[in-house]
Amino acid sequence: MYKHFLPDEYVKDIYQITPEKLQEQGIKGIMTDLDNTLVEWDRPEATPEVIEWMKLMRDAGLKVIVVSNNHEPRVSTFCQPAEIPFIFEARKPLEKGFERALRLLELPKEEVVMIGDQLLTDILGGNRFGLHTILVVPVAKSDGFVTRFNRKVERRILKGLKRRGMLDWEE
Ligand SMILES: [Mg+2]
Repeated sequence: MYKHFLPDEYVKDIYQITPEKLQEQGIKGIMTDLDNTLVEWDRPEATPEVIEWMKLMRDAGLKVIVVSNNHEPRVSTFCQPAEIPFIFEARKPLEKGFERALRLLELPKEEVVMIGDQLLTDILGGNRFGLHTILVVPVAKSDGFVTRFNRKVERRILKGLKRRGMLDWEE
């Protein structure tokens, strides 16, 4: 059961993820979570750093789409000014949102990575859907209401993974 929660990679933040590294692995498309992955969950707009990172990926020929469980106003307010395609109310870890995103990317699963800060939604969903998965440390220490509950469960899973020597990560 634990293996579904195990990301293929884990890094401190999105800026450790470079087009070169992804392309070496045959990745051509990126699905990324929004809240606490790209920016703090309560920051409405993209930072210059995020916009720069997106540009870096796109200039290298990688397609990027935001796949968020958050509602439409939150996700569109963030994505539209930066011209990032997005899926809102994706209901990760369920398949539907990933399917919609995959159709928009027009790529096979094997060429897509899912980046996110939550094991229960981003990593579990990405793994089960058959994507490459990268876990990042949450940008902010705090979370929105639903996520606060998920984090409690997540901490127990992280402990389990560490105990089994499957994950070696100190926050
Ligand atoms: Mg998140």
